[in-house]
Amino acid sequence: MTIAKGTDPQAQQWANRVIPLPKEIEISGSQRYRADQIGLSIRTALVPPVRTAIGLLSGFTLATEEDASFIIRLALLDDETAEVRDRLLGLPNREQAYAILPLAEREGRLLVAASPVGLLYAARTLAQLVQAPAALTPETELELPLPKILDWPDLSERGQWGGNVASDLAWTSQWKLNVVEVSAELGVVDQQLLSQGAELGVKVVPYFPHLETVSRYAGLMERSELISTPDPARPLPSDYTPGLCMSSPATQKLVQSWLARMAETAGVTDIMVWFSESAAPCFCPKCIGKEPYGLEAACIVNAFASIEEAHPHVRLRLLTTQGSYPVNDKILAAAPESVGVTYYDGGRTYDSSRQPMIYPLLEEYARSGRWLGVYPQITHAWRTVFPWTAPQFIHYRAQEFVQKGLSCMIGYAVPSNRFHEFNVMAEAEWTWNAQGRSPEEFARAYASSTGMTEPDLSRWVRWALAVGEAGWTLAESRLFLALINDPTLGFQKGKGRKADHRFETADLTDVGELQQALATAQQALELAQEAGNADMRAESECILAGLQALELLHSITALLKTPALDVESRQSLSAALDRLDACACTLRTRLPEWGERISSQTGEKLPTRLLDTAGVLLRTCDALRQVAVSRGVPDPQPAWRLRPVGRWSADDFQHGQEAFLLLGLADLVPSAGGSFHIGFDFIDSAWGTSIKDVAVLARAPGQEGGNVIARTPDLLGVDINGVSIWERWKEVRIRIPATPPGAELFLAITLWGMPADAPADRRTCAGAVSIRQVQAG
Ligand SMILES: [Zn+2]
Repeated sequence: MTIAKGTDPQAQQWANRVIPLPKEIEISGSQRYRADQIGLSIRTALVPPVRTAIGLLSGFTLATEEDASFIIRLALLDDETAEVRDRLLGLPNREQAYAILPLAEREGRLLVAASPVGLLYAARTLAQLVQAPAALTPETELELPLPKILDWPDLSERGQWGGNVASDLAWTSQWKLNVVEVSAELGVVDQQLLSQGAELGVKVVPYFPHLETVSRYAGLMERSELISTPDPARPLPSDYTPGLCMSSPATQKLVQSWLARMAETAGVTDIMVWFSESAAPCFCPKCIGKEPYGLEAACIVNAFASIEEAHPHVRLRLLTTQGSYPVNDKILAAAPESVGVTYYDGGRTYDSSRQPMIYPLLEEYARSGRWLGVYPQITHAWRTVFPWTAPQFIHYRAQEFVQKGLSCMIGYAVPSNRFHEFNVMAEAEWTWNAQGRSPEEFARAYASSTGMTEPDLSRWVRWALAVGEAGWTLAESRLFLALINDPTLGFQKGKGRKADHRFETADLTDVGELQQALATAQQALELAQEAGNADMRAESECILAGLQALELLHSITALLKTPALDVESRQSLSAALDRLDACACTLRTRLPEWGERISSQTGEKLPTRLLDTAGVLLRTCDALRQVAVSRGVPDPQPAWRLRPVGRWSADDFQHGQEAFLLLGLADLVPSAGGSFHIGFDFIDSAWGTSIKDVAVLARAPGQEGGNVIARTPDLLGVDINGVSIWERWKEVRIRIPATPPGAELFLAITLWGMPADAPADRRTCAGAVSIRQVQAG
């Protein structure tokens, strides 16, 4: 009884109102009723999901059951006919299945399911179909589409981790997303979130973050009976955090107590442990020489086994990592039958290429009936914040997971769903119904859900498909990830890539069809200009600028590597570098403008990863210009490059962890002022440094101190923004007004770095400060 595409435009339009598309839906016309003619009949206990279902329907069902001309009835299967029961109980994921059917004895619809959550899903579907206005009186007339629906999800668990997911349940659950995985440090689970999840039909799965980071947040770094013994043959790395010794009985006991605390929390049904991201081997006599992930797996599985009997309703799931990848086969083999495994890998699942994600080992595991989940990114790249409406990409990913028999998809959207609403809803769509809508059909349903009407709607759909395709090629190239890891593209020795397990697969990747992607991005930009929509335009411009930069980088790096440059080559190089500057300018202006339109809704500052994405190509231009100058190609805009202002070192932290730098800006800022970036670069040392404040002071001759005339609008603070081995560079924005006559300008920077009690052999903490002027957008 699926709608035959293109046969009934009205039925199609009604079906477009429902996200995700129900598996079987037939709409046989509609009837008009006043709100006071429609009644609600509840034939089941008022448990939390049913209360939410009633909340969705009660706004437009104002009649009593006796007086109503049209009844909407909620009932669990127990009271229904054998025919309905057999059909629903025969479906995959039947605990979430529901039907909407004509009532047998009077005008109305029966919403029936095997569970309260199924009833909530039925109510969500009906409420979306009816689209009752928020302000409604008893006399308001509604057109009720009359559906017959049978519906169930493809994946039993559809959800997210990270970003703002814990505070976004009200929005995500609308689209039938039904799980969030949230950090539970020391085994403490957010009780309020569990209650909200119960009402909205969302499972909350608490997890221990990556095991090698536990000692820092759990305050265990001094507990010698628990922490791992570092490699005696190597110096400690910068910002060293010890792992846990997995052979220690004390560790076993501690992990066991945390798992027990999670399992004892009312409402918890699944608990999760994340393996270490980089192998953190322990060199104690018990651990030395043993495979570290084997030790982690044994410790967790044994700890769980010891609490399992007391908590038979709780299941354990393990999260693999890029570190465990070489031994994932051993982890799968060691996991007992009842334990689930989720596939995460900082490179292989945080991947937006056109390659499949579930490799044969995992496919076989899932096909054998075992519980397998996956943690893919659903954005451009985990380390960037970049606009990308991606119907084709999400469709491709979800179809693979469903086809290969997975149980769970947990998408990752940085830094919050507000920047990627389309992709989150697309995940909800295709993890529920992978074979239902095409990318174009979903884009249409999404646009309808935002209230868009023709002719804007069709143009938006064409645009979404164009940016979706062009943006996929850009994401596939890994351009921004590669540049954030090493903005100099290897042209400056010592500044480039360091050993960072998160960037193992961050190399620039060759993409096919670059010319076609450029043409598609250009078409998208034209559609956005026609529509006069700032968000469409920003997204198109950023994708186009990224693809142009990708093409330019190929030609520029080839020319820079040519042994002898003739006049013609120097001219081409100069022109290509000018065009690269223009791309960098587009990204630097359009990305923050787009981000600010979203951030301003919540009053938050721009996410630091967005600023990194917006600024990184400027750094690449710096590095390539420097090489070009040495090859005889002059730089027409030296003020646009980072110029040194000063440095900090351990000496600045002699009196405490906070340090204050006052750096002269003579000759670096024109008297008329302008827009600038202040650059921060980590210099290898034992401690990273947070940036707490960046301001500009004007000091009149003979004046003590000075007046603050400018301050950065960007997010700063301890452990919020800074430089370290993990974040080797940062740039913050600042707008400097005209210099008061006769005054001198200083950069006033507050830092938070090396603690006063740092051990004698680890007393280093260093970085460099620089400034660049930036072009007007
Ligand atoms: Zn050990």
